[in-house]
Amino acid sequence: MGRGLSVSFDLDGTLTDLAFVDGVWNEGLPELVAEELGVGVDEAARLCMEAYLSEGDASIKWYRLAFWLERFGLGHVDEDALISAFTGRIRAFEDGLRALRALRERGYPLVLFSNAPRAFLDREVEQCGLEPFFDTIVSLPDDWDTVKSQEAAFVRLQGLVGTDVVHVGDHILFDYEVPRRAGLEAYHLWRGKGPRLEHSLASLDCFVDRIIRGQAQP
Ligand SMILES: [Mg+2]
Repeated sequence: MGRGLSVSFDLDGTLTDLAFVDGVWNEGLPELVAEELGVGVDEAARLCMEAYLSEGDASIKWYRLAFWLERFGLGHVDEDALISAFTGRIRAFEDGLRALRALRERGYPLVLFSNAPRAFLDREVEQCGLEPFFDTIVSLPDDWDTVKSQEAAFVRLQGLVGTDVVHVGDHILFDYEVPRRAGLEAYHLWRGKGPRLEHSLASLDCFVDRIIRGQAQP
């Protein structure tokens, strides 16, 4: 423990509810596509889903709204207005806020490490009052021009904070397997749906218990 320990959190689906980002991607964008192409909203939603899947979430483009607007011939659309239509849905999970308070009180340096572009991340951070908890906030696509599918991103994080890092998030690959391959300790948070691991954590309260009891060491 000589080097100390920093704790790194994913944002969407981990600290904040997915309702906001899902609204932008699965409702807002399809509605614009429907208008543009003159098809029904369901058909547009299907087209969007297909396009997202064909790009895949390991790609930095997946996270960039401007890329998708361009792709659907919607380059004229105001990105901020599209996002703002859904900011009313931004909610922080209670166990996330408890975890941040508990770890902050105990003096752990905290990092927000997210694949969300700034246009999403900054609104979530502001609306949920997350800023004061964090020593470091990184929007990977906008600040580092990379995403968490890359081991190098986690290596860079470890170098930046100068301590050991334990990371937690709700994406099995990008918040658990990739950081572990990069030599970090990592935990997968399972929020009740989607794939899970046998040892996925059911809440961030469980995560804090692990850290505080010192079971976070490999
Ligand atoms: Mg997430």
